[in-house]
Amino acid sequence: MIKFLDLQKVNQPYANQMAEVAARIIGSENYLQGESTHKFEKELSAYIGSSYAIGVGNGLDALRLILKGYIELGQLQEGDEIIVPANTYIATILAITSNGLKPVLAEPHPLTFNLDLEKLEGHITARTKAIMVVHLYGQACWGPEIEQLKTKYGLKIIEDNAQAIGAEWEGTKTGALGDAAAFSFYPTKNLGALGDAGAVATNDKKLASTIRALANYGSPEKNVHVYKGYNSRMDELQAAFLSLKLADLDKANQKRREIATTYIKHLSPTPLTVQSLPSQPQTHVWHLFVVLHPERDRLRRLLLDKGIETAIHYPTPPHWQPALSEYKHISLPITEKIHQQALSLPLHPELTKEEIEMVISGVKKLI
Ligand SMILES: *Cc1c(COP(=O)(O)O)cnc(C)c1O
Repeated sequence: MIKFLDLQKVNQPYANQMAEVAARIIGSENYLQGESTHKFEKELSAYIGSSYAIGVGNGLDALRLILKGYIELGQLQEGDEIIVPANTYIATILAITSNGLKPVLAEPHPLTFNLDLEKLEGHITARTKAIMVVHLYGQACWGPEIEQLKTKYGLKIIEDNAQAIGAEWEGTKTGALGDAAAFSFYPTKNLGALGDAGAVATNDKKLASTIRALANYGSPEKNVHVYKGYNSRMDELQAAFLSLKLADLDKANQKRREIATTYIKHLSPTPLTVQSLPSQPQTHVWHLFVVLHPERDRLRRLLLDKGIETAIHYPTPPHWQPALSEYKHISLPITEKIHQQALSLPLHPELTKEEIEMVISGVKKLI
């Protein structure tokens, strides 16, 4: 059986070191907001190339806190429109709605699955205040169009970097391209904790201190509550585990690139729609390897019969979810097609050469 993602294999190499740091943290009696979190925040901001990084509870909170931070600073107001890809994980959109802001769903490009940058300007109205880009499946969603719209309309650019830590655009890491970025360290992500964790990165000092306070009951100093805040903090154990794994992230992402290159070489051209290799390999960290097939569900079942586990990211587009029923009448044909046809093949750094070959031959026999 080839597992879609083998987390046991991914984390096993760190098991001894994790046990050691856990023992040290147990002894420290300091389980939140201590040395390990501080250290990881420094390492993360140095890695990304941003001035500030703030460890928070999870990726959704990171996104919500960025928007709430801008609201507290008077730079966003309830009812403002935020352009966001229709083809994303629903958390991106929930961060917007939970702050009383209005998501404007934009179609992706049919071959990159990321926002179609040429169509963005068509969504801009007098109420548009920000674009939330998502580096979906690990591929940087960036281009001169975004910089131009930012300047022309005075927009904030917020990055949902949950899936693309380590990717770069012309030498700048995702997470340092826009005004603020959210990271998720959910266990399955390219940099995964052993539980929930997330972070915000930004160069904006005021935004950083506002978010730090908001994530701690709105309290910038003990017993002073400036905002109606939340409790969303990274814990010491996750921070220490993430430090261990961050040191190897580039190596792990490089393995992912090699696997994706092999898949693409053998699976195109075929009846599958396969992403092409980006001309600059560093723009993609292949969090997921997603192909499209008109009979996706049948292909998935037959692959499973052969012992090859796959996944679907995601089976239902956000605008068809009951939670977003106010959007269900919008027609988003490219997004809808992707959700109906998308299939994620196994891809993680511990996949063996034999397993990769079995996936390729298994898929080729069935299409
Ligand atoms: C995982 C993910 C999130 C949410 O992160 P959590 O840590 O699970 O809250 C947000 N956006 C995208 C694109 C994601 O993949």
